[in-house]
Amino acid sequence: MDYQQILNTIKSELDSLKYTGKVASYIPELAKIDPDEFGMHLHCINSGHYNLGNNEKRFSIQSISKVFALTLAMSISGDDLFQRVDVEPSGDPFNSLIQLEYEQGIPRNPFINAGALVISDILISELDDPKKSFLDFIHKLTGDNSIGINTKVYESEKQYSHRNAALLNLMKSFGNIKNNIEDVLDFYTYQCSIEMSCQELSTAFMIYANGGKKLENSKNIVPPQKVKRINAIMQTCGFYDEAGEFSFRVGLPGKSGVGGGITAVHPGQYAVTVWSPPLNPKGNSELGMYALERLTTLTGYSIF
Ligand code: GLU
Repeated sequence: MDYQQILNTIKSELDSLKYTGKVASYIPELAKIDPDEFGMHLHCINSGHYNLGNNEKRFSIQSISKVFALTLAMSISGDDLFQRVDVEPSGDPFNSLIQLEYEQGIPRNPFINAGALVISDILISELDDPKKSFLDFIHKLTGDNSIGINTKVYESEKQYSHRNAALLNLMKSFGNIKNNIEDVLDFYTYQCSIEMSCQELSTAFMIYANGGKKLENSKNIVPPQKVKRINAIMQTCGFYDEAGEFSFRVGLPGKSGVGGGITAVHPGQYAVTVWSPPLNPKGNSELGMYALERLTTLTGYSIF
């Protein structure tokens, strides 16, 4: 398969499209990103790396971090965690409060904000220095110790995290948050403000494409049965209230973030990341979804 040729075709198609989406502005620092930024990186298990655009430029990974947080929490606390957060698609926006009220403070899944905040709470309870452990985990997955947070994005989100504070307060009233609300909010905001490039995200997500093993040394990071579960949650819940649409169009498990990134995996084949900041009305990268739809269409392969 000539993957570079396929990526080049995708790029020429994208060049003739005009996005209608908007860069996320509810975190003011994110609104400063150039909407025309674009990068794509495909890391194939058997044939290596293929790139387009600014694939080495770091951007705010935002909710893509929720996959790393869930993986870390599952490695520490086992299945008990799924008594505090469910594994069902929400069908609601990523920051919605509605379901939490009538479902007694148990979030629908770990990839909406409410669920990710419960995962943050678990990591704070279990780890002595959760911020360091989180970054250490990403450094282990990528082999790059220079990955860190963007402090401006971190400060900016902290000033405007009223909805996440509301989610935490509501869940705490149901007994599903154990730590201090400020501490959970701080850690959650920290993990969301990590910056990585398309290339680094594809490398980090290789464990989900490769049965839990790092590609370069076959070191087991996550047991295969946990990878199966994480991929299943990405497939059904990785795109907020557009998870069905992403499955329908792309046919791969993945996770998006409001920084405009999407990382997806084809188990046994590859990990791929696209970055294009303008978001569609559901909060997913408009051109990112287009590029991934074209990738699975032009290659003729998805998981289905
Ligand atoms: N830090 C963002 C928030 O909590 C993440 C949202 C996202 O990427 O979906 O609102």
